[in-house]
Amino acid sequence: MGERSYGEVVVTQRVDGSNISIPVILVRGKKPGQILCVNECIHGDEYAGMHPIIRIAHELNTNELCGTLVAIPVVNVPALEDLSRINHYDHLNMNRIFPGNPEGSLSQQIAHVFLNEVVKKCAAMVDLHGGGGYASIKNMVIAQKGFEKLAWDLALSTGFDLVWKGGSWGGTGRISALEAGIPAISVEAGGGMLSKEENVAVHMGVTKNVMRYLKMLPGQPDIAKHYRIMAGDETHAKNSGFFHPVTKSGQDVKKGELVGIITDLHGRTIDNVKAPTDGVLTQLRYPCPVSPGETLFILGNILEVREN
Ligand SMILES: [Zn+2]
Repeated sequence: MGERSYGEVVVTQRVDGSNISIPVILVRGKKPGQILCVNECIHGDEYAGMHPIIRIAHELNTNELCGTLVAIPVVNVPALEDLSRINHYDHLNMNRIFPGNPEGSLSQQIAHVFLNEVVKKCAAMVDLHGGGGYASIKNMVIAQKGFEKLAWDLALSTGFDLVWKGGSWGGTGRISALEAGIPAISVEAGGGMLSKEENVAVHMGVTKNVMRYLKMLPGQPDIAKHYRIMAGDETHAKNSGFFHPVTKSGQDVKKGELVGIITDLHGRTIDNVKAPTDGVLTQLRYPCPVSPGETLFILGNILEVREN
C-alpha cells in the first residue's frame, strides 16, 4: 500500500521544551524495493537541494515507486535557522564530526541521531550539498577514496562528469555511512545561498537518476559518456583582506596561474593567490572579506579520464 507521511525524528529539546528534530517525508511505493535516504542541509547555508527533495517527495507517484524514499530536506535545522554552515549552539561544522555523540553537544547529537535512526535504516544515501554561502561550485559527485567498491556505481548513476575522491578531511556523514557498509555519495551543486531553479533541476535530476539506478523508478539513469576523476585540496588565505577571484569555478588552471588577489582596505594588493598545481577549480570563493586560514578555493587534480 503506497503512502506519503510527514514526521520528525526528535533529537533533543530547546530551553522552552520545544523539540529540535530532523524533519522527514516518507514516501512508500506500492511495490517492494530499496530504501533510499536523500538528505540536504547538513550545512545550514546549503539549501539548494532542500526544495528538490521536497518537490520529489510530493510529486512521486506511489503507484510507480518501488521501495521507499526517506526524504530529509534539512538535517541541521539549527544551522538553517542561522543560515550558517555552523549553528550558534556549539559552532561546530557538522560534516566534520560524524559519527557524532549521543552525549555530546547539539551538532554531535544531531549527527548521531541522523546516522543511527535514519541513514543506517536505508540501503543507500545521497547527501546533497550546495557549495556553501560564500563560494560558487562546479557540479560534482563525491565518491570517497577507499570505498569505490561500495559506492562507485552509485556515484556514476548521478550522471555527473566530475567525480571527486574526497578531500583530506574526515568526519563527514558520507564516510560514516560507508563505514557502516551503506553505499553513500555526496553531491555538490549550487552555491552562494541561492536556491536557483537551475540548481533545483540539477538536484532533482541527480536524485531521479539514482532512483532509476536503484530500480525505484522505471527507466535507465542518464550517465555521462566521459567523466573525469579528481582529487585535491583546499587553498587557504594567508592574510586577512578582501579576496577578488580572477577565475571562475569549473575553470581549468595551470600551476602558478593567478586565481585571485587579496587586497587590503586601501585597495592595495597584498597577496597574489596562485594555483599550487594544475587542475579544475571545483569551488571558488566569491569576492568577499577573508581571514587567515579560510578556504579560498578547492583545486581538483585530474587523476584519470574515463569513458562509459
Ligand atoms: Zn556542504
